[in-house]
Amino acid sequence: MIFDILTIFPDLLESPLKEGIIRRARLNGQISTNIIDLRIFADGPHSMTDDRPFGGGEGMVMKPEPLAAAVESRKNIGQSSRVILLSPQGRSYNQAIAEELSTEAHLVLVCGRYEGVDERFRAEYVNDEISIGDFILTGGELAAMVIIDSITRLLPGVLGCADSATKDTFSRNLLKHPQYTRPRVFNEHSVPEELLSGNHEKIEAYRFIASVKRTLERRPDLIRNEKFTASEILLLKKNNLLKVVEKTQCNQK
Ligand code: SAM
Repeated sequence: MIFDILTIFPDLLESPLKEGIIRRARLNGQISTNIIDLRIFADGPHSMTDDRPFGGGEGMVMKPEPLAAAVESRKNIGQSSRVILLSPQGRSYNQAIAEELSTEAHLVLVCGRYEGVDERFRAEYVNDEISIGDFILTGGELAAMVIIDSITRLLPGVLGCADSATKDTFSRNLLKHPQYTRPRVFNEHSVPEELLSGNHEKIEAYRFIASVKRTLERRPDLIRNEKFTASEILLLKKNNLLKVVEKTQCNQK
């Protein structure tokens, strides 16, 4: 998968692309990342990529020509290119969107700065607008990195342990169960005994119930669309959780 990142601050993105799983995915050829400096596409002696807003007011606006030229220069790199503008006004990013985007061959991520980008560029060149949350960043670079990171780990073969992405929080409408490692006792708190039993079935049952309890406590809104298997329903019943789950699902419909 190809990620092109269009930015006026290329250095901001260098380091996160050089570490951990993202680095390995790049070295293995599972992803390729190209940081494209928008200033290269700006005309004039000062290579200006922004200008004052028509109508007056605060801040600067990113000019449409350098953005358009940069997008045009990348469009035919992949078989099909999807141009995404990072914007607090876009659709809210989540795991379902990460999964949807992970099927694309080529993403062009456009990072805004200042007051944002000229509306005519947005209307003509952008296929999708994505927000990473209801808050304002100084620029789209960190948001682009969030998108690259979350998509890359979904690509086949990228994660070492084959099924670890499928068991993550949000892979179904549940939060993942709590995790423990050595030592067995820390500050007088012991690891739950089920996890030390060596009994796979018991461990899985414990983790499933811990996951449901945590979701009910922290994100009951998620449970609304969750469908449980027959054996999971039996487990919920055995742990006096079936009625609570059903009530939560009913209340939210
Ligand atoms: N004036 C704009 C507004 O009120 O909608 C905010 C501009 S913001 C300071 C500058 C740039 O940061 C945006 O163009 C966008 O690329 C990026 N940005 C800010 N918040 C973001 C968010 N929540 N998600 C994605 N990108 C964001």
